[in-house]
Amino acid sequence: MRIENPQIASALPEMGVELHSGVALATLTSLRIGGTTDLLLVRDHKHLPQLIRLLDGHGVPHRLLGGGSNLLVQDGELPWVCLQLAAPGEGVRLEGNKAYVDCAADLGHTVTFCAKRDLGGMEGLIGVPGTVGGALRMNAGAYGMQIGAYVREIDVYREATRSIETLRGAEIRFEYRHTSFAPGDIMLAVRLELISKPYAEILQGIRICNEKRRSSQPLNQRSAGCIFKNPPGLSTGRMIDGLGLKGFRVGDAMVSDRHANFFINTGRATCADMLALMAEVRERVRAAHGVELEEEVIVWNDERKGHM
Ligand SMILES: Cc1cc2nc3c(=O)[nH]c(=O)nc-3n(C[C@H](O)[C@H](O)[C@H](O)COP(=O)(O)OP(=O)(O)OC[C@H]3O[C@@H](n4cnc5c(N)ncnc54)[C@H](O)[C@@H]3O)c2cc1C
Repeated sequence: MRIENPQIASALPEMGVELHSGVALATLTSLRIGGTTDLLLVRDHKHLPQLIRLLDGHGVPHRLLGGGSNLLVQDGELPWVCLQLAAPGEGVRLEGNKAYVDCAADLGHTVTFCAKRDLGGMEGLIGVPGTVGGALRMNAGAYGMQIGAYVREIDVYREATRSIETLRGAEIRFEYRHTSFAPGDIMLAVRLELISKPYAEILQGIRICNEKRRSSQPLNQRSAGCIFKNPPGLSTGRMIDGLGLKGFRVGDAMVSDRHANFFINTGRATCADMLALMAEVRERVRAAHGVELEEEVIVWNDERKGHM
């Protein structure tokens, strides 16, 4: 979708919003799949309510893009514009064992920044690509920890009130790859309470997690991490592997031969290829195990409802 309305275009600079025309989301997503749209880069969070009011007032649909590492986006000209929070400088400020983090900050950078200053707890998140905001939306986690456990306060643009509010961590439900935020809520800044421990100890934890990832995941290939959630008590990867589906493909979309719950784009996979592969795998798991797999990847596709 293109922003052609001059009233919108002329109001953007005073809100500190940069308009990037005709951006291919395939260049901004880790799957390297996704069509083209205008991207609005928001430099100052406080203008977000005004920007959203402006877009809604002119009937311009919009979605929020983080680091693009958990997204499967449809091809072609997209029927909505993308908003993206501009990456901050350092993005992290420390006070004792509290970290104040801009939600556009890179998650890996945040974990290492805190680690080097003797603040740990988030070692499992090393190697999870994307932004802090994306991690909060999904309650990202790995190796027995989830980011939600460390959240004390969040500044969030709330869809319901159309204003920026500060929520206490206890007011938010953080569940396995799911949170109680409304689809249109946008996380802007977070206060995390971390665990004081020596850098050397944190580094050891980081190295262990890195090694586990390197030995089990196709890290140098185009993926969105795990494509399906694990049903309670079960491993989706093991179920798919058990059905002999590693290497199974539709077009250039393929079940990784390294980790069966990572689906990769081996070349020019389309969104339709990836969705067809997901449907086929889901059907085979249902037939063999009677288990309905739930997507972990967020699908931005016209015919389907995704998160904002
Ligand atoms: C190689 C690889 C390994 C991975 N390993 C893991 C893992 O171990 N554990 C894990 O949990 N995930 C993993 N992932 C998935 C992904 O990295 C995480 O889900 C990540 O937190 C997504 O963040 P993002 O900024 O890239 O979000 P995006 O992919 O850009 O967006 C995902 C969703 O979050 C929303 N969103 C983004 N930013 C905000 C914000 N500020 N406010 C509100 N909503 C927002 C988007 O609108 C969208 O609905 C992996 C991915 C890859 C490619």
